[in-house]
Amino acid sequence: MWKRLLKLRPAALVFLRANLGKGSRIKFWYDIWTPLGQLILHIGASGPRNTRIPINATVNRAANATGWCLGGSRSQQELDLHIHLTTLPLPASSVNEDAYVWEANGAVPKHAFNMWVANADRLPTRSRLASWGINIQTCCPLCSFHNETRDHLLLTCDFSKEIWRLLFERLDCSRHSLLSWAELLSLIRGPQAFPTVTLHRISVQTIIFHLWKQRNNVIHNQISLSTAEIFRLVDRDIRTTITAKRKRKNFASLMSFWLR
Ligand SMILES: [Zn+2]
Repeated sequence: MWKRLLKLRPAALVFLRANLGKGSRIKFWYDIWTPLGQLILHIGASGPRNTRIPINATVNRAANATGWCLGGSRSQQELDLHIHLTTLPLPASSVNEDAYVWEANGAVPKHAFNMWVANADRLPTRSRLASWGINIQTCCPLCSFHNETRDHLLLTCDFSKEIWRLLFERLDCSRHSLLSWAELLSLIRGPQAFPTVTLHRISVQTIIFHLWKQRNNVIHNQISLSTAEIFRLVDRDIRTTITAKRKRKNFASLMSFWLR
């Protein structure tokens, strides 16, 4: 039994997400408690030494009552983590215990988690960073024209608009664009029935994930893909997500709905 459980561990890990409370249970390096996945994989084996957070530390070890205390940042990956941490309440100020949540809806967890962060408007966009007094340009990295807010970056930027247009064309939907976050939420909450609303949910999470990734690639890696290339990646991920549901009884209709 024990051996079987050990064998299952890597697969189970992917679907287990930790919600940070007081930080006394969540393992800093091994649990998935940020959108960056397991930090030991995101930052690499040198992470514990560079940040001076021991390999088996719990999350509360990385913060005191006044802020996060990680050693100086050396890589882009560590910087991403620092930026994300500034968006979180400090464990010391939390009244909740840490909690673990199973990702049971079959969405790719990284997409679902990114969507959750976006929905809470916690993505560290340039406008948010500037509002904390960080001295940076606030223009959108995708169009270099408007201020980078969540809704601009993910919905109304010309670049993102084209991705959404490709989606609605693919879904044969009367809609052509999303003007507000409320419109996006109405798209994934119904009133349409299965398979429409399921497919909307999968595609929205996938597109938000890829737009945010594209934005980070432009800023940190000077890599920018065309809207057609991004949409190809979105299409590939949506097929993978649907395929992961192939044991469910409505799988065939969901796939044919996407491939039509
Ligand atoms: Zn833009």
